[in-house]
Amino acid sequence: MMKNALKYILILFFALSINITCLKLMANGTKIFRVGAFNYYPAIFQDNDGIVKGFYVDALKEIEKNEDIRFEYIYGSWSEGIDRIKSGNIDVMPSVAYTPERALFLDYCKTPLLTVWGELYVTFESEIDNIKEVQGKTVAIMKGDFNAQYFIDLVKKFGIECNFVEMSGFDEVFTAVKEKKVDAGIVNSTFGVAKQKEFRIRSTGVVFNPFDIFFAVKKGENKELAEILDKYLNKWRHQEFSVYNQARQKWSHGTVGKIEIFPQWLSYFLAAIGFLILAAFVFIVLLRKQVFRATKDLLKQKEILRESEAKFKSYVNTAPDGIFVVNETGKYIEVNPAASIITGYAETELLALSVRDLQPPETMEQDMQYFIALKEQGRMSAEFEFVHKNNSKRWWSVEGIKLSEFRYLGFAKDITERKQAEFLLKEQNAQIASQNERYKQLNSELQKSKEKAEESDRLKTAFLQNMSHEIRTPLNAIMGFAELLPRCYDNKEKLEKFSRIINERGTDLIEIINGILDISKIESGQLTLNLEEIRIEKLLHEIDTFFGEFQKKIRKHNLAFNIVLDSKVANTIAYSDPVKLKQILINLIGNAFKYTQTGNIEVGCSLKNENDLLFYVKDTGIGIPANRHTEIFERFIQAHQNSNQLYGGNGLGLSIVKGLLDLLEGKIWLESEVGKGSTFFFTLPLKTK
Ligand code: ADP
Repeated sequence: MMKNALKYILILFFALSINITCLKLMANGTKIFRVGAFNYYPAIFQDNDGIVKGFYVDALKEIEKNEDIRFEYIYGSWSEGIDRIKSGNIDVMPSVAYTPERALFLDYCKTPLLTVWGELYVTFESEIDNIKEVQGKTVAIMKGDFNAQYFIDLVKKFGIECNFVEMSGFDEVFTAVKEKKVDAGIVNSTFGVAKQKEFRIRSTGVVFNPFDIFFAVKKGENKELAEILDKYLNKWRHQEFSVYNQARQKWSHGTVGKIEIFPQWLSYFLAAIGFLILAAFVFIVLLRKQVFRATKDLLKQKEILRESEAKFKSYVNTAPDGIFVVNETGKYIEVNPAASIITGYAETELLALSVRDLQPPETMEQDMQYFIALKEQGRMSAEFEFVHKNNSKRWWSVEGIKLSEFRYLGFAKDITERKQAEFLLKEQNAQIASQNERYKQLNSELQKSKEKAEESDRLKTAFLQNMSHEIRTPLNAIMGFAELLPRCYDNKEKLEKFSRIINERGTDLIEIINGILDISKIESGQLTLNLEEIRIEKLLHEIDTFFGEFQKKIRKHNLAFNIVLDSKVANTIAYSDPVKLKQILINLIGNAFKYTQTGNIEVGCSLKNENDLLFYVKDTGIGIPANRHTEIFERFIQAHQNSNQLYGGNGLGLSIVKGLLDLLEGKIWLESEVGKGSTFFFTLPLKTK
């Protein structure tokens, strides 16, 4: 606001001073000429900063440089300018077309400034394209414009009626067209060409009234100024790159050539820009070269890569092993033809499956452990079953490699035939092993049988030898004494003695033969059991009676013989063979009497447990050495040296006892101390009928 106010005050001040003197001289003698300025873009106009600019101004500046004159600009409308020059308030008016009326108060320069013409402008949407189409329309014109007057006359001549709206300048005319306040507007060609783009309006192509425009001075005044102006204009007309022409170019189209009026800094700036463009160009060329080389390398590498990929693909496709790539969930994402052959699924079918789909349900959890191991350890190698598309179970060996968190590579081989062969081999090995075991058993049984047979043979021989020896001993005695008998018929004493010996040895012989018969029966399994209920108390009573008689007979009166019966078994009834049980007791008690000189013999029975009876025969006899406790149950074995001569006997009694107890399912053992006595224990099962 302040700036504009100041501007108007200055204009007013200049106007007043002009009234005082038409021509002002500067202190140093430079002449000042006042130029009528108005809005005639781009020739002359007032810019936003309030300064009058345009190619007229540039041209006048060039003249200022060379001549001792200066120009001042008095801005106003075109008609104000005309009025001012008429009244002598300005010295020179540019852009004045020649009209006889104006020639009355103006002197024109000889060389025209421009040749211009009138032009009809409309908006882009307008349908006005020829002069007839302005019929009934509103047309904006600049007040006092020579062209406008011509157009008004022209339409009248054509009988076209239209409304004209006067504006103060060309800017206002274009603004009215642009804002569609009017249908069309008339400006001269110089302004129109320069401003149509800015206002976004177009020429209708209706052009008219070409004419020249000149600098004009007040009639009869400033003749020398007119001459100076003519001199420069005339010179510039013939120079292609004259200051005037270049300034026109610059202001009309915004382009400049080699122009002196450019400020120095602009030249430097443009030079710098040029240098930068050149540097950029060189840089771009070098860059392009580098890019070209890099691209070439890249293409080469791409080709190598493509070739190697193709090679790799052919290896994968022809590989005899199945190749699978799965993602982290086990879904197949890549497979090769061999994978398809192994599984029976087409490649596309496989790509819709995951590892779980090929594992048998019964081993699924165990098989998935391999996949977990692969994820955790990065590698995995295993043999396991899978289900073929035809539902048969087959075997494969899989080598897994972790490529990334999301990709796992597997090489698979169908090993079904090998596995089947292995199973068969295993089965056959097991059969062979079991056969070997059987053979071994048979061998051992055979060996045992052989050993038994040999042993039996040996025993038989030993037995026969023993037997013949045992039989021969009493028989020899019998035969010897029988031979002596006839020689001692007259010796009654000898006769009785020899007869007694023959009788005793005969008894021995019978005992031996009975024992041998018993043993053979037991060992040949011919002895049968006659089971019946046995009242233990009754049985022991019979034994007691038997040995009472026996003791009398053998005259061992210093020996006490007792039977101790546990009250718990007094009425116990065992189910067994009474004859054999009695024989066992008789043999054991008989031995006790045989090997005991003084002291006592005790026979007892009690319950060992609820199933067995426990018998014992205890004596205070000679005892048996500990190392003979087992052997004495064998045939013909006697524990003491010269036992036979000292105590009699033949070593068969205990082996018969052992054999009988085996038959009755009892057990026998002993406790003994040499010189103190022996106790024989045996058990008898308490069976019921
Ligand atoms: P024998 O007819 O010789 O007594 P046995 O088979 O009955 O044959 O006994 C074998 C051997 O055991 C006897 O020769 C004897 O040396 C020893 N023997 C058996 N019973 C007793 C016992 N009560 N006291 C000491 N030795 C005994």
